[in-house]
Amino acid sequence: MKAQELRHLFLEYFRDKGHEIVQSAPMVVKNDPTLMFTNAGMNQFKDIFLGNTPPKYNRIANSQKCLRVSGKHNDLEEVGHDTYHHTMFEMLGNWSFGEYFKEEAIEWAWEFLTERLGIPRERLYATIFRGSPEENVPRDDEAFRFWQKCFPDMPHHILEGPKKDNFWEMGDTGPCGPCSEIHIDVRGEKERKKLPGQDLVNKGDPQVIEIWNLVFIQYNRKADGSLEMLPAKHVDTGMGFERLCMVVQGKKSNYDTDLFQPVIKEISSITGKKYGEKGTWDTAMRVIADHLRAVSFSIADGQLPSNNKAGYVIRRILRRAVRYGYNGLGMEEPFMYRLVPKLAEAMGDHYPELTSLKELISKIILEEETAFLKTLGKGLKMIEKMISDLKKSSVRILPGKVAFELYDTFGFPADLTQLILREHNMEVDIPGFEDEMKNQKERSRENALLDAGDWQIIRDTGDTIFTGYQNTAEDVLITRYRMVKTKGREVCHIVLDKTPFYAESGGQVGDTGFIQSHNERIVITDTVKENDLIIHVAGKVPSEPAAGFRAEVSQERRKMTAANHTATHLLHYALREVLGSHVEQKGSLVTPDRLRFDFSHFAKPSGDELLRVEERANRLVMENMNRQVTDNIPLKQARSMGAVALFGEKYGETVRVVQFGDSVELCGGTHVDSTASIGIIKIISEGAIAAGIRRIEAVTAARALEYINERISAVEDIAVMLKSTGNIKESVEKLVAENSALRKSLEKYQARSAMNSLKEIENRAIRIGDIRFLSGIIEADSAETLKTLAFEVRKKPENSIMVIGSDIEGKANLVVMVSDRLTGERNISAVDIIKVIAGEINGGGGGQPFLATAGGKNPGGLAKALKKAEEFLKNL
Ligand code: ATP
Ligand code: MG
Repeated sequence: MKAQELRHLFLEYFRDKGHEIVQSAPMVVKNDPTLMFTNAGMNQFKDIFLGNTPPKYNRIANSQKCLRVSGKHNDLEEVGHDTYHHTMFEMLGNWSFGEYFKEEAIEWAWEFLTERLGIPRERLYATIFRGSPEENVPRDDEAFRFWQKCFPDMPHHILEGPKKDNFWEMGDTGPCGPCSEIHIDVRGEKERKKLPGQDLVNKGDPQVIEIWNLVFIQYNRKADGSLEMLPAKHVDTGMGFERLCMVVQGKKSNYDTDLFQPVIKEISSITGKKYGEKGTWDTAMRVIADHLRAVSFSIADGQLPSNNKAGYVIRRILRRAVRYGYNGLGMEEPFMYRLVPKLAEAMGDHYPELTSLKELISKIILEEETAFLKTLGKGLKMIEKMISDLKKSSVRILPGKVAFELYDTFGFPADLTQLILREHNMEVDIPGFEDEMKNQKERSRENALLDAGDWQIIRDTGDTIFTGYQNTAEDVLITRYRMVKTKGREVCHIVLDKTPFYAESGGQVGDTGFIQSHNERIVITDTVKENDLIIHVAGKVPSEPAAGFRAEVSQERRKMTAANHTATHLLHYALREVLGSHVEQKGSLVTPDRLRFDFSHFAKPSGDELLRVEERANRLVMENMNRQVTDNIPLKQARSMGAVALFGEKYGETVRVVQFGDSVELCGGTHVDSTASIGIIKIISEGAIAAGIRRIEAVTAARALEYINERISAVEDIAVMLKSTGNIKESVEKLVAENSALRKSLEKYQARSAMNSLKEIENRAIRIGDIRFLSGIIEADSAETLKTLAFEVRKKPENSIMVIGSDIEGKANLVVMVSDRLTGERNISAVDIIKVIAGEINGGGGGQPFLATAGGKNPGGLAKALKKAEEFLKNL
């Protein structure tokens, strides 16, 4: 059975059981400070489990793109070395929100695997939670009973497991509960007879692996660690799709399925190396095939490789693959980008964004590969240098810190560094390396994780109603609040029953302002979203949280932000009109002071094109178009109105459409009432941020005026300085021409004056044996001039040695020249002479036998240096 059919079969099976089939959420998480990437199917339903939002459907099934490379789930180091962990994988899942529980979940999983897919029962094992007396959590007897029905005659196929494997928690606090894993034994008959499968469950055997985890969420863990029963119990299941494919397609490795084979075959044909011969390169091929997916899907989701946060994680994954290609397959040229079309073939049916964006993905990967291959070369050089340094000081162990630096900046994992060192009979301080690694992990945890206290519930009024599209002030009530520590700072998170505050999203910054009760005013420094929850960030805890409050948004800031937001829409429209309809939004940042707009376009727009874009956008401003908003319409209808949906953006059931004339956008942001209040749009910069992606920065309204005035006044200042009354451009051109003429005549003059000095020096030449010795201190503008003089003398037939010095901008410079005949027949070297005299100017130098130079801090020592050279030669 093809992977494609299998995915379909799973979804249809649960559709028959009354489940709504939903889309995979983006793999890159945007609205959750505790999570960078989706790492399980349940992430997108977190708010439902937390009780923040009611579920739209009580039964849901889907296939979710997951990435496990950071935080709680990090499988990166396993990937490629084993055959069943991926960085990016698909998780098939079914959910019940307060409806069915353990009995149905177990029965259906069982029916799907054994009846629909015909997997032999004797190859399956189930685990249940054995209980934890110290935490006062009982054994999961319920699950045990239901599993007994599946294995009536095979009691040894039900195993009890510890908390580590059989108790699931979302975080330190929040919903949790016991889980049942389903494992499969895919070994051959003989091996299975020799050793029963139950002995290998959860033991890391690649042929006895977990395929499905059924989580039964029945508790809520509070900040003090205690558990309370949840009023509504939920089911959350996750099955590794690639592993299931392996089983159903009768393979022993995920990489042998049709999900990976097309890409692996392409790697073979590019590198000329065959996969599956247990050669040293099998691991490299698996790593590349796997990482290609992770990187491509994340680019399709709008997350480009970059230098920080999620972008950096993606860059590191790509670099890991490049490095395996380099060391394992001898690929010193970029090649991964050539695999993208095959990937799109294998997975594009279910994920059409891969197909439509394959050119962009390929270009970005090529650029990253090219850049990293350069760094990689540098890293290898650095290791070589370290090795030779260590050898010189007879040290055999590379400090952990250095190994970590190689890992962190050049993507060299410790095992590679170890391998290279071993070739030189050296070792890496692995414990030291691990310490550094641990430190870094802790640092990134501290940065990423919020240390949140329990919510203090004041009243329960359901979801927050957002009124900020109409109002900027509102009478409100606090529904809950909590204390949160981030980076050592303590803030209070406040949730309101309704709010005029816009929470940061879609690139637009959150509102600021205050809430005021009869006895206090609390400043709101930011408004953010955690999934769908609108959180007001405040500096202090309300002293009387149950009181009535007046919430007021800072209006000036909101107005400026709105002007910038509408301006991004107009620029987007103008860009498509001037550059072409291939232009797609790739990101944006809208603040009160300026805006940033990223878009796809493969060439640098010419100055003229940019001018036209700016002109077009400003014309839309002057036409004073009114805002038209259509809210709560299905995505399909919005599309038919001309709105373009962005990949990687999570759209709800219905969407909001913002129109200004012909500009139509899906947008949840706040905008001006009519375009005239933008005043003016001024583009202040344009440049590339990645292959095929460009960024425009612009300012509007008062900021634009400030910008323009600053520019104009700079020009006016110049006019005054130039005493120019007419055309400033002409005056500047004249100045530049004059300047270059002056520079040329100065150079001529300096050359002549240096030649004169040379003549003087030659007149004062003395004889030391049969050598003509020239020396002197001269005035020169650069060390180059000294060298030019040296070459002049070298050309002459006499056997000369010249030592000249100069004080150039407070630094001492020395040049020693020895005629060719003297270096050859007499074995006199300018290097030896410079070494003897450089000390006098507090410096050092070197060069070649016929010409050596030195620089030093002490120009006062020049005369002594010359004298010393003379003595040196006299004593030769
Ligand atoms: P394992 O112990 O094999 O790492 P897990 O306990 O981390 O699995 P869960 O978090 O329970 O797995 O995830 C649910 C299912 O997702 C697993 O049963 C497995 O089939 C699949 N899965 C988990 N991690 C990966 C991965 N890195 N690559 C592919 N599939 C995975
Ligand atoms: Mg795991």
